[in-house]
Amino acid sequence: MRVRFAPSPTGHLHVGNARTALFNWLLARHGGGTYVLRVEDTDRERSTPESEATIKDDLRWLGLSWDEGIDAGGDVGPYRQSERLDLYAAHTRQLLQSGHAYRCFCAPETLEAQRQAALAAGAPPKYPGTCRDLAPDDVEARVEAGARPAIRLRVPADREVAFDDIVRGRVAFHTDVIGDPVIVRGDGIPAYNYAVVIDDALMHITHVVRGEDHISNTPRQLLVYEAFGWTPPAFAHLSLVLGPDHAPLSKRHGATSVAEFRAKGYLPEALANYLALLGWSPGDGQELLPLNELAARFDLAHVGHSAGVFDEAKLAWMNRHYLKAATPGRLVALAVPYLQSAGRVTGGLSAAAETWLSQIVPPLAASLDRLNELPDRMHLLFAFDAEAALARDDVRAEIAAAPAPAVSRAWADALASSPRLTARDAFRALAKDVGTRTGAKGKALFHTIRLVTTGLPDGPELDVLVPAIDQAADFTPADGLAPVPGCRERAAAFVAALDRVTS
Ligand code: GLU
Repeated sequence: MRVRFAPSPTGHLHVGNARTALFNWLLARHGGGTYVLRVEDTDRERSTPESEATIKDDLRWLGLSWDEGIDAGGDVGPYRQSERLDLYAAHTRQLLQSGHAYRCFCAPETLEAQRQAALAAGAPPKYPGTCRDLAPDDVEARVEAGARPAIRLRVPADREVAFDDIVRGRVAFHTDVIGDPVIVRGDGIPAYNYAVVIDDALMHITHVVRGEDHISNTPRQLLVYEAFGWTPPAFAHLSLVLGPDHAPLSKRHGATSVAEFRAKGYLPEALANYLALLGWSPGDGQELLPLNELAARFDLAHVGHSAGVFDEAKLAWMNRHYLKAATPGRLVALAVPYLQSAGRVTGGLSAAAETWLSQIVPPLAASLDRLNELPDRMHLLFAFDAEAALARDDVRAEIAAAPAPAVSRAWADALASSPRLTARDAFRALAKDVGTRTGAKGKALFHTIRLVTTGLPDGPELDVLVPAIDQAADFTPADGLAPVPGCRERAAAFVAALDRVTS
């Protein structure tokens, strides 16, 4: 089995195309096949090297490595259409010779006028065949005179062109609706429907899996296979990815490209898992499947033909699962760019700072949908503003009620003469002390400590938070982190602010 992903490098990798890439990859990996990456850049105006680079980068990020093609090499290259023009030209000469193609000298304005006239008459626009049967001498004379004709495929009249789509079943078109298509433009650039056939055939592609938007191209492509006497591959057309309003997923629905989901802090395995289930199901209700499991189970027979509605909440649910499963080291590596742009990582991290992050990031990340939410979640480690806390009605009311004022002061006093609370046990012991001295326990004790330490009525567990704060409190700029005010400093500032408010 040989499959390919054949992106046009004209923009970012849309999640719909990423799903096409994924299904091809899964098919190849499931069946021990070869996965080919081919770049379809015959649209010279819209194709850019930057787009090709981001598409490759996004594919690699998703884990969809290819065996053959751009960058990987292989025996049936080149794998970029713009480098295959000679090959197309040789094949075109063959079709001209066999009479399956002919030169068309019609001016674009004439063709456009004919198109408009057909539309006005309520007929499907179709090339009227003006140049179909020009005398060979005439053709030669015009070429010699410098005309640069387009090349058209001679489509047989009154025929059915049909194929058995693996996803959609039998699909049939009548050739009467297909006017002889241009296969090579006047400037020598092949049309997509032509180049794709030569490429798929010469690259020995056995299964063409692509978006449903290409279904109406397939009969034209089949006619090209026929003209060359080639056996076409099997086709599977995947339904489109839709937005919540059932229109094709587009900008106005929000994020559409792999790059955007990546920037938001979705993990690649979450996006791949989510996209795999958009149209395919393993049949046993299992939903959380990493790439290797997906590949082990994937089959085209269970790809549905109803369109998949993109549901970001479901993606976020999967992402939470993978964030919880990620190793601390990986999570930190993934988190650093977000912390950098939030100004929390300020330079190269020391080993101590690295260790600190690997202890605090996983418990915080476990309650996130996406990594771009992490800087907000970590805000309370880096920033403490007692005045702002006491400006909140809820905090002020809670701190004013007995025994909170006494607990706050006792906690600040105890911290003033205590070493940093860098371990959970040290925190617990000091809290117990303060409890004994003030007679407060349970919520009255710990909730007050929370308010004094974070200025917030809720947040991560104090057992995790207090040691994390105090471990980082004595870091220096050389550790590569923004300053973290210690528990002692926080409590002192809080009590001072409380005194100002109550005096
Ligand atoms: N270059 C085409 C696209 O990006 C792919 C067509 C195909 O898979 O046949 O839509």
